[in-house]
Amino acid sequence: MTPRLITACLLVVAAVSAGCVKGGGLSHSVAERRRESQVETYEVAAAGLGAGADGYTFRNERFRFEYDPGFASVAGYETEDARRARGVEASEVLNGGYAFVRDIFGIEANKLLRVVIAPTVRGAANDAYTTTSWREIGREGRMVDGSEESVMHFGKEAFESGAVLAHEMTHTLLNAYRLPAWFAEGIATLVEVDYAKSARIDYADVSIAPIGLDENGHNVIQTWRGHASELPERSSETYGSAYAIIREIRARYGPNVYPRFFRDLRETGAHLAGDGVSLGVIIRTLSRVSGTDVAPFFVGIEFDVPDL
Ligand SMILES: [Zn+2]
Repeated sequence: MTPRLITACLLVVAAVSAGCVKGGGLSHSVAERRRESQVETYEVAAAGLGAGADGYTFRNERFRFEYDPGFASVAGYETEDARRARGVEASEVLNGGYAFVRDIFGIEANKLLRVVIAPTVRGAANDAYTTTSWREIGREGRMVDGSEESVMHFGKEAFESGAVLAHEMTHTLLNAYRLPAWFAEGIATLVEVDYAKSARIDYADVSIAPIGLDENGHNVIQTWRGHASELPERSSETYGSAYAIIREIRARYGPNVYPRFFRDLRETGAHLAGDGVSLGVIIRTLSRVSGTDVAPFFVGIEFDVPDL
């Protein structure tokens, strides 16, 4: 079994351009420590967020908030009560986002979601990212169903942004499916915009028209973050293009298309294959659940559509 790690990110302010950590691994010791830490007992508070003995860890039924000890000297976070109050606020936003994702996309988590907060992450208070690890078996690296574990990381400013909270939480719910970047980021951005009312870019203006074509004449968004990608790791234009495609699929094929899509993946286990969900699987699955051949849609936006 090989541990794998992927990273998905959101940039709050375009000026911060630190790239995502790609590849790498999560050591066994980290995974073991995590499991042990989940058996701590928590005082159940009236506010709905129990505190661990250290005063920096809080938990409710769905989320576990872990504050960096550095918050002891950060205004608004100095005391246990202040940290709990911030956690309750975040929890309300996250719970609303969770219900939104469940209703629109038909996916849920079956384990506690970890939220790690530090004054800065990767050197910035407004940066945030989510990591997911999973176990694989066999020569082709098939994912062990249910083995995925995600951790959200927020700098202080990012943690105070409902849009960023909603975006990153969506990644934790999606990461079991190992979707291409354009698909996962499009969904995370849809939740960020349509649920959390993000003002990051002008989403009314975005279009499904390709933002660029590669040397073979194919839409550059298709390989975003892949080896052949010409696109920056994070830019408003790419998030906007991905968002427009996800929104258009729902508009064309109906409000049930995504819940049926994810249910179909769970039933077939197609997302567990070594390379995750390919465009071919996406097209076949969307076509099956919508009763419509969706390949012409992807041809129309200049994706490199495989023979099906
Ligand atoms: Zn993202």
